[in-house]
Amino acid sequence: MGGAAGLPLDHMHCISSVTPSRSMPYVAACSPGMTKAGGTFPGGRWLQLSWMLTGGHMQVVSELAGRMPRTAEDLQRLLPGVGRYTAGAIASISFGQATGVVDGNVIRVLCRLRCIGADTSSLAVIDCLWDMANTLVDRSRPGDFNQALMELGATVCTPKSPLCRECPVKEHCHAWRRVEKELASASQKLFGKTTLVPDVEDCGPGGCPLCLPAAEPWDSSLGVTNFPRKAAKKQPRVEWTATCVLERRGRLGAPEYLIVQRPSSGLLAGLWEFPSLPLAPGLQEEQQKEVLADHLRAWTRQPVQTQRLCFIGEVVHIFSHIHQTYVVYSLCLDGDVALDAASSSSRWVTEEEFRASAVSTAMKKVLKARETQRGAQSGRAKGSKRKRESKLGAAGSTPTGMQLSLRAFLRAQPPP
Ligand code: SF4
Repeated sequence: MGGAAGLPLDHMHCISSVTPSRSMPYVAACSPGMTKAGGTFPGGRWLQLSWMLTGGHMQVVSELAGRMPRTAEDLQRLLPGVGRYTAGAIASISFGQATGVVDGNVIRVLCRLRCIGADTSSLAVIDCLWDMANTLVDRSRPGDFNQALMELGATVCTPKSPLCRECPVKEHCHAWRRVEKELASASQKLFGKTTLVPDVEDCGPGGCPLCLPAAEPWDSSLGVTNFPRKAAKKQPRVEWTATCVLERRGRLGAPEYLIVQRPSSGLLAGLWEFPSLPLAPGLQEEQQKEVLADHLRAWTRQPVQTQRLCFIGEVVHIFSHIHQTYVVYSLCLDGDVALDAASSSSRWVTEEEFRASAVSTAMKKVLKARETQRGAQSGRAKGSKRKRESKLGAAGSTPTGMQLSLRAFLRAQPPP
């Protein structure tokens, strides 16, 4: 069998010889407490909830004329925020497409079944796992099969204490087989027999991209939990992004904000945000304002003066792999700004609409920074108004601060 990445899969990792419905027990039938798709499986409810929260149902209604894509490929291609796992789960559970799913539980089960000890975030391993999931999935009941495989990982093949003796697929599990061989070897030694059990589970020298790394070989004390191996934690990369809270006065005087939609793939795919752009490292404030003003012109279709951009502060947001710093500016527009009517990727929203939109947590933090700035500004404005009033008041006040009557005030005026 060749892996999805074109890798030759040796006997240990190969799964093509296993025909799900014959050689491999149907996991759903063996897992106690399992329910069918559409029943009470919690994953189904989670999918439904996440679907509603991400606004995917609105996308189907507004842009796909109410027609829900029915295959994993179309779901991923047409709906923002729907990745490979969600697409596979919806297509198999809701529409019966024979396509696999790979989540954390499935990764663990498959890695143990086929002794995959390489970094599970590597492309070679990811492609191999998807290849296996697509090969194994039961053609007649793909939704049940996928849910059963996930449930097996969640309830039996758990991260720290797998219940191998009760596992319905232990006869097919290479990791368990290896543990049994070690136990047999140990008991032979105990009775004075010295026959060595050959270690047939290693692919041998040659740098197999799926085996345990040579630097971290099999550890007998870990048993089946040798698989999967955690990838060495990478340092998150550092990124800077300039973002602008662009405001206009709404119909009732309340502020309205311009939000724009991110591309349909990549980080935060399809979500809405304040106009933003990545910053090259080391830019000074004036340079940041220039690139940001250029970027804003594309949305407002009118020149933006850099001196009107007001620096708010920096907002830090940590993604799993990115340490992101948003350098936040604000800009209040005097007049109205007509957006490109042909484009559906920008819109003005009230604060309430902003909070109801599919925006990231980072953007909510940015809006909060703007509101804090507004509060500070209005506090300063009130303070200076009070000062002005107290200066004015001083002319018409007694030394004790008491207000004079109008007659006394006029009398008190010095002659011109
Ligand atoms: Fe997981 Fe053990 Fe079952 Fe193998 S035998 S799949 S390691 S629970």
